[in-house]
Amino acid sequence: MSQPTQILYAGPAEHDSDLWQVTHDPTPALEDGQLHLRLSHVSVDPAMRGWITAKRSYIEPIKPGQLMRAFGVGEVVASRAEGFAPGDWVTGFTGLSTEPVVTPRDVRKINTSLTEPKDYLSGLGMTGYTAYFGVTDIGHPKPGETVVISSAAGAVGSIACQVARNLGARVIGIAGGPEKCDWLKQTLQVDGVIDYKNERVADGLDREAPNGIDMYFDNVGGEALDAVLARINRHARIVVCGAISQYGDMFDITGPRNYMALITHSATMQGFTMRDYLRRVPEGFMQLLTWKHEGKLVYREHIVEGLEQFPDAFEMLFRGENSGKLLIKV
Ligand code: NDP
Repeated sequence: MSQPTQILYAGPAEHDSDLWQVTHDPTPALEDGQLHLRLSHVSVDPAMRGWITAKRSYIEPIKPGQLMRAFGVGEVVASRAEGFAPGDWVTGFTGLSTEPVVTPRDVRKINTSLTEPKDYLSGLGMTGYTAYFGVTDIGHPKPGETVVISSAAGAVGSIACQVARNLGARVIGIAGGPEKCDWLKQTLQVDGVIDYKNERVADGLDREAPNGIDMYFDNVGGEALDAVLARINRHARIVVCGAISQYGDMFDITGPRNYMALITHSATMQGFTMRDYLRRVPEGFMQLLTWKHEGKLVYREHIVEGLEQFPDAFEMLFRGENSGKLLIKV
């Protein structure tokens, strides 16, 4: 039998490669109320940077020496918890372990006859719900409005583009590099693209959104956020989903310089986490699944093989080397 693998958070380090420790401890004997899982995939998320930062947040930070928190999907191989049996598939906070032991509070059962297990981490999972609720509930674009989305070719951004497009908005995607921008235009059929690695976001917005911006789904913060704020229309909505350009040093973040545009244009800027919408997950799942069946939702995954690859995979996010939802096949 193969040895389980775990990735622990080693503690603060100068280089990202030194943040992690790979261990191969045997799975402990199950106690009452616990489940033993064998994971098929884990999700690699920019939010992990926040989860290892000892700063006030929406969730407790991971301490040095602890198993790293992660979303995973897998099969129950043994259960001492009511309502779960071997052969059930679950998703949730499983941690970075090939064979984690969890409790029913950490996970929920999934229906693998509706879609593949890995989709519950990707377009039909938390990634998809983040985009769906952020756009529909906070951004609520009207048909014909101009919507700008950053990290538009990424996991959340690419779904957000399609949700806004499906609601009838004119969608402009900001992404890094020609391959991602071509994919946005050809496959997601967005109305305009800005390759921020090859032009200034401000110049791109002047070209693609000459009549101003009604909604912005922000995944990156920094320069793009300021360029958008300088071009918003009256009653614009800024949906603050993420700020990846600022994750390099969580203790030295550059805030928006142009926030006074919120006053002059009676605009709103609202942050959220997916946690706000946990009760509405079934609604998000059914709408996204319906759009997928109708050909109105596509998503791509970037799959890395082997949990030991996590340290390298994590860094890919911050170099823009992932094309779509970054997953590890365990
Ligand atoms: P992505 O699949 O979008 O991957 C990250 C991408 O960010 C990279 O591929 C890269 O794309 C872009 N990027 C990296 N560094 C920079 C930078 N300095 N400036 C601009 N772009 C950069 O990841 P996710 O879809 O998982 O996450 C996207 C955002 O959504 C993150 O900010 C994340 O924290 C947030 N998020 C928020 C949630 C919530 O509940 N609020 C839930 C999930 C995610 P490119 O090649 O285009 O540069």
